[in-house]
Amino acid sequence: MKIALYPGTFDPITNGHLDIIQRASHLFDRVIVTVAVNSSKTPMFTDDERVSLIHTVLKEKKIKNVSVESFNGLLVTFARKKKASVLIRGLRAVSDFEYEFQMALMNRKQEPKITTVFLMPHERYTYLNSSIIREVARLNGNVKDLVPTAVQKALKQKLTAK
Ligand code: ADP
Repeated sequence: MKIALYPGTFDPITNGHLDIIQRASHLFDRVIVTVAVNSSKTPMFTDDERVSLIHTVLKEKKIKNVSVESFNGLLVTFARKKKASVLIRGLRAVSDFEYEFQMALMNRKQEPKITTVFLMPHERYTYLNSSIIREVARLNGNVKDLVPTAVQKALKQKLTAK
Protein backbone atom coordinates (compact mmCIF):
# COMPACT_ATOMS: atom_id res chain seq x y z
CA MET A 1 0.00 0.00 0.00
CA LYS A 2 1.67 3.22 -1.20
CA ILE A 3 0.36 6.25 0.62
CA ALA A 4 1.28 9.78 -0.50
CA LEU A 5 0.64 13.15 1.11
CA TYR A 6 0.03 16.22 -1.00
CA PRO A 7 0.74 19.13 1.36
CA GLY A 8 -0.02 22.80 0.81
CA THR A 9 -2.02 25.81 1.86
CA PHE A 10 -4.75 25.45 -0.79
CA ASP A 11 -6.11 28.99 -0.28
CA PRO A 12 -8.16 28.08 -2.30
CA ILE A 13 -7.72 24.86 -4.31
CA THR A 14 -7.20 25.63 -8.04
CA ASN A 15 -7.40 23.54 -11.20
CA GLY A 16 -3.59 23.34 -11.02
CA HIS A 17 -3.80 21.59 -7.63
CA LEU A 18 -6.59 19.39 -8.98
CA ASP A 19 -4.45 18.39 -11.97
CA ILE A 20 -1.67 17.27 -9.58
CA ILE A 21 -4.19 15.42 -7.37
CA GLN A 22 -5.55 13.50 -10.37
CA ARG A 23 -2.06 12.52 -11.57
CA ALA A 24 -1.10 11.41 -8.04
CA SER A 25 -4.31 9.42 -7.64
CA HIS A 26 -3.24 7.24 -10.59
CA LEU A 27 0.23 6.65 -9.18
CA PHE A 28 -0.50 5.85 -5.54
CA ASP A 29 -2.97 3.66 -3.67
CA ARG A 30 -4.00 6.49 -1.39
CA VAL A 31 -3.39 10.22 -1.52
CA ILE A 32 -4.06 12.50 1.44
CA VAL A 33 -4.36 16.16 0.55
CA THR A 34 -2.83 17.73 3.62
CA VAL A 35 -3.92 21.26 4.40
CA ALA A 36 -1.41 23.22 6.46
CA VAL A 37 -3.27 25.11 9.17
CA ASN A 38 -0.47 26.78 11.05
CA SER A 39 1.48 28.41 8.26
CA SER A 40 2.84 31.92 8.61
CA LYS A 41 0.51 33.02 5.80
CA THR A 42 -2.79 34.70 6.66
CA PRO A 43 -5.23 32.84 4.44
CA MET A 44 -8.37 34.24 2.80
CA PHE A 45 -10.29 31.05 3.60
CA THR A 46 -10.38 29.54 7.11
CA ASP A 47 -8.85 26.11 7.75
CA ASP A 48 -12.30 24.50 7.70
CA GLU A 49 -13.31 26.31 4.51
CA ARG A 50 -10.15 25.16 2.68
CA VAL A 51 -10.67 21.56 3.78
CA SER A 52 -14.35 21.65 2.93
CA LEU A 53 -13.76 23.10 -0.57
CA ILE A 54 -11.26 20.31 -1.35
CA HIS A 55 -13.73 17.77 0.00
CA THR A 56 -16.47 19.11 -2.27
CA VAL A 57 -14.20 19.08 -5.33
CA LEU A 58 -13.03 15.49 -4.71
CA LYS A 59 -16.63 14.36 -4.38
CA GLU A 60 -17.72 16.24 -7.48
CA LYS A 61 -14.87 14.76 -9.56
CA LYS A 62 -15.50 11.29 -8.08
CA ILE A 63 -11.86 10.85 -7.10
CA LYS A 64 -12.11 7.81 -4.87
CA ASN A 65 -8.66 7.16 -3.41
CA VAL A 66 -7.97 10.73 -2.31
CA SER A 67 -8.96 12.18 1.05
CA VAL A 68 -8.31 15.49 2.78
CA GLU A 69 -7.01 16.26 6.26
CA SER A 70 -5.62 19.29 7.98
CA PHE A 71 -2.37 19.23 9.89
CA ASN A 72 -0.44 21.36 12.24
CA GLY A 73 3.27 20.89 12.95
CA LEU A 74 6.12 19.11 11.21
CA LEU A 75 5.06 17.50 7.94
CA VAL A 76 7.21 14.37 8.28
CA THR A 77 5.73 13.70 11.73
CA PHE A 78 2.28 13.74 10.16
CA ALA A 79 3.52 11.56 7.27
CA ARG A 80 4.86 8.94 9.72
CA LYS A 81 1.57 8.95 11.60
CA LYS A 82 -0.29 8.34 8.33
CA LYS A 83 2.24 5.71 7.16
CA ALA A 84 2.92 7.79 4.07
CA SER A 85 6.23 7.23 2.29
CA VAL A 86 5.83 9.89 -0.40
CA LEU A 87 5.32 13.66 -0.42
CA ILE A 88 3.87 15.08 -3.64
CA ARG A 89 4.73 18.58 -4.78
CA GLY A 90 3.82 20.37 -7.98
CA LEU A 91 6.50 21.97 -10.14
CA ARG A 92 5.31 24.73 -12.45
CA ALA A 93 8.40 26.59 -13.54
CA VAL A 94 12.09 26.85 -12.77
CA SER A 95 11.17 29.54 -10.23
CA ASP A 96 9.57 26.83 -8.03
CA PHE A 97 12.73 24.77 -8.03
CA GLU A 98 14.94 26.45 -5.47
CA TYR A 99 12.36 26.50 -2.68
CA GLU A 100 11.11 22.99 -3.47
CA PHE A 101 14.66 21.62 -3.59
CA GLN A 102 15.40 23.07 -0.14
CA MET A 103 12.15 21.70 1.33
CA ALA A 104 12.66 18.25 -0.19
CA LEU A 105 16.20 17.96 1.17
CA MET A 106 15.19 19.24 4.61
CA ASN A 107 12.32 16.75 4.75
CA ARG A 108 14.70 13.98 3.68
CA LYS A 109 17.12 15.04 6.43
CA GLN A 110 14.26 14.76 8.95
CA GLU A 111 13.09 11.39 7.62
CA PRO A 112 15.25 9.62 5.01
CA LYS A 113 12.56 7.01 4.31
CA ILE A 114 10.16 9.62 2.94
CA THR A 115 10.67 10.63 -0.69
CA THR A 116 9.42 13.81 -2.35
CA VAL A 117 7.98 13.25 -5.81
CA PHE A 118 7.48 16.22 -8.16
CA LEU A 119 4.69 16.22 -10.69
CA MET A 120 4.17 18.70 -13.52
CA PRO A 121 0.67 19.95 -14.28
CA HIS A 122 -0.73 20.44 -17.76
CA GLU A 123 0.91 23.52 -19.25
CA ARG A 124 -2.39 25.39 -19.17
CA TYR A 125 -2.00 25.61 -15.39
CA THR A 126 1.68 26.49 -15.11
CA TYR A 127 1.02 30.19 -14.48
CA LEU A 128 -1.58 29.54 -11.79
CA ASN A 129 -1.29 29.89 -8.07
CA SER A 130 -3.83 30.59 -5.34
CA SER A 131 -2.65 34.12 -4.74
CA ILE A 132 -3.17 35.26 -8.35
CA ILE A 133 -6.65 33.70 -8.23
CA ARG A 134 -7.47 35.62 -5.04
CA GLU A 135 -6.17 38.82 -6.60
CA VAL A 136 -8.13 38.46 -9.85
CA ALA A 137 -11.30 37.50 -7.97
CA ARG A 138 -10.92 40.52 -5.66
CA LEU A 139 -10.75 42.76 -8.70
CA ASN A 140 -13.83 41.09 -10.14
CA GLY A 141 -11.92 39.36 -12.94
CA ASN A 142 -12.72 36.05 -14.58
CA VAL A 143 -11.44 32.87 -12.86
CA LYS A 144 -13.65 30.45 -14.80
CA ASP A 145 -11.61 27.45 -16.13
CA LEU A 146 -8.95 28.16 -13.50
CA VAL A 147 -10.74 26.98 -10.37
CA PRO A 148 -13.51 24.41 -9.75
CA THR A 149 -17.10 25.74 -9.76
CA ALA A 150 -17.43 25.37 -5.98
CA VAL A 151 -14.38 27.61 -5.56
CA GLN A 152 -15.78 30.22 -7.96
CA LYS A 153 -18.91 30.35 -5.82
CA ALA A 154 -16.97 30.48 -2.55
CA LEU A 155 -14.81 33.34 -3.84
CA LYS A 156 -17.88 35.33 -4.84
CA GLN A 157 -19.49 34.72 -1.47
CA LYS A 158 -16.37 35.63 0.46
CA LEU A 159 -15.84 38.83 -1.48
CA THR A 160 -19.44 40.04 -1.36
CA ALA A 161 -19.68 39.23 2.36
CA LYS A 162 -16.88 41.74 3.06
P1 ADP B 1 2.33 26.09 -0.45
O1 ADP B 1 1.83 27.12 0.48
O2 ADP B 1 2.94 24.89 0.19
O3 ADP B 1 3.11 26.60 -1.63
P2 ADP B 1 0.13 25.70 -2.27
O4 ADP B 1 -1.24 25.37 -1.85
O5 ADP B 1 0.34 27.02 -2.91
O6 ADP B 1 0.98 25.48 -1.01
O7 ADP B 1 0.67 24.57 -3.23
C1 ADP B 1 0.78 23.24 -2.84
C2 ADP B 1 1.58 22.51 -3.88
O8 ADP B 1 0.89 22.57 -5.12
C3 ADP B 1 2.96 23.08 -4.15
O9 ADP B 1 3.82 22.00 -4.44
C4 ADP B 1 2.78 23.91 -5.38
O10 ADP B 1 3.97 23.97 -6.14
C5 ADP B 1 1.73 23.10 -6.11
N1 ADP B 1 0.95 23.93 -7.02
C6 ADP B 1 0.32 25.08 -6.77
N2 ADP B 1 -0.28 25.56 -7.88
C7 ADP B 1 -0.01 24.68 -8.87
C8 ADP B 1 -0.30 24.62 -10.27
N3 ADP B 1 -0.97 25.59 -10.89
N4 ADP B 1 0.14 23.57 -10.95
C9 ADP B 1 0.87 22.62 -10.33
N5 ADP B 1 1.21 22.61 -9.05
C10 ADP B 1 0.77 23.63 -8.30
